[in-house]
Amino acid sequence: MTSVAANETGAVFTSPAFDRHEEVIFYTDAKSGLRAIIAIHDTTLGPALGGCRMWPYGNEQEAITDVLRLSRAMSFKNALAQLSTGGGKSVIIGDPERDKSETLFHAFGRFVENLGGRYIVAEDVGTNVDDMSHIRSQTSHVMGFSARQGSSGDPSPVTAYGVFCGLKAAVEFRLGRVDLAGLSVAVQGIGHVGYQLCKYLHEAGAKLMVSDIHGAAVARAKADFGARAVAGEDIYSQDVDVFAPCALGAELNRRTIPQLKAQVVAGAANNQLECAEDGAKLAERNILYAPDYVINAGGVSNLSYERENGYARDQAMAHTARIYEITLEIFGRAKREGRPTSDIADDMPQELLGAHS
Ligand code: NAD
Repeated sequence: MTSVAANETGAVFTSPAFDRHEEVIFYTDAKSGLRAIIAIHDTTLGPALGGCRMWPYGNEQEAITDVLRLSRAMSFKNALAQLSTGGGKSVIIGDPERDKSETLFHAFGRFVENLGGRYIVAEDVGTNVDDMSHIRSQTSHVMGFSARQGSSGDPSPVTAYGVFCGLKAAVEFRLGRVDLAGLSVAVQGIGHVGYQLCKYLHEAGAKLMVSDIHGAAVARAKADFGARAVAGEDIYSQDVDVFAPCALGAELNRRTIPQLKAQVVAGAANNQLECAEDGAKLAERNILYAPDYVINAGGVSNLSYERENGYARDQAMAHTARIYEITLEIFGRAKREGRPTSDIADDMPQELLGAHS
């Protein structure tokens, strides 16, 4: 395995996504074809915890930008979720459908092991519990591997529960509704989290509109929840109460925000705002934005209940339910200060981290 200095590979320090990251490490492994980057953003509260994303990035700079943004969001997410972990993230450049192998995840596991516990890996988009089990053969600094091996398994159902709690807080704050029966929600991306979120919403009596680039995911939501299918980009302009982005990032931008008819945005996707100003654009349109890393923290909270004597699911769910109060606190402060909710969500963890350093 070869370690490559960051500045030989692409712009890191001059990237707009760079924000006082402690460490950015590049790895390659010729045998497996692994090309990976780990970014450790902040370890003030503890070792950096964050998922490993596998994605066919168009170029290296896209991968660097993604890992820088995602790792910073993990610092903020973990701090706000009151966890004793810092923020980090990793990316593997490759197509998860085509390029995965045990050897590749073994090499990645050795990479994580080399960091001596400063980074703890878990799954993210493009990786799953089986991949984490392969990584575990090389390092103990991994969470969310198979439940059969005593871990917490797939975090997505707990993430979805947290998103549901945050969405309820937003609906109550913006629409004055506690009962979700009849609420209309457009969900973009019916993957691991999106599907489970639809389940919670359906059980609460909400009406669902869904879109996904995979027809099978849409067909399943139609069959299981009576959801109405919406074609691709039309999901933004649906006449609904809530828009729930549960696909990839940067879906809220200068092109899509003007199309929104929803009064609330609350979803699972990481990095929903393409740039910081998009938070202000939503506020200007009087759309209440439930900040992504606040309401999607259920999965990482879940990981922190992996204990030596097993996984404590009830405690993980109770911890995740706190997202409702934290989200309301952010909305209250945003209203008092006349500022976008996204700005408040950035300030609060920085205040917490500042108090500890
Ligand atoms: P996933 O890969 O299982 O699901 C994503 C879904 O979005 C897929 O079905 C995909 O086909 C669909 N999709 C992609 N692009 C789309 C587009 N343009 N329009 C419509 N659908 C599209 O991933 P996931 O685990 O469900 O995660 C979803 C989001 O939530 C990601 O941004 C992830 O980073 C974030 N997140 C996930 C967790 C977790 O526990 N899994 C935790 C925190 C945050």
